Amino acid sequence: MNTKTELAGGGPVTADHRELKENGQQKGYVVLSADERAKGFVRPYREKYVHNPCGSVTRMGSSIAETYARDPYFYSGTFCVGCGKHFPLDQFVWDGTTEVVGS
Ligand SMILES: [Zn+2]
Repeated sequence: MNTKTELAGGGPVTADHRELKENGQQKGYVVLSADERAKGFVRPYREKYVHNPCGSVTRMGSSIAETYARDPYFYSGTFCVGCGKHFPLDQFVWDGTTEVVGS
């Protein structure tokens, strides 16, 4: 496994990227590099997901959405804007579907 990664918005992955900001989000999110994402998607490109317990819809940046589309198993959890926290992916479905995020 030699998958190239970077931080969303560009730049190398930093040691402290998982530290949380005041809004509960991480300082940075790891994504597949642009070259990796350009190799093709194995799932539809989707930007919005629903957190089942609270019903809130969260919208991702395009590089994170492209990473999900390229590699559905890349992430194990994600952020809910309604709760202001991260949760395991099995609590989320893609907006407008019953399809679990990360499957
Ligand atoms: Zn929530």
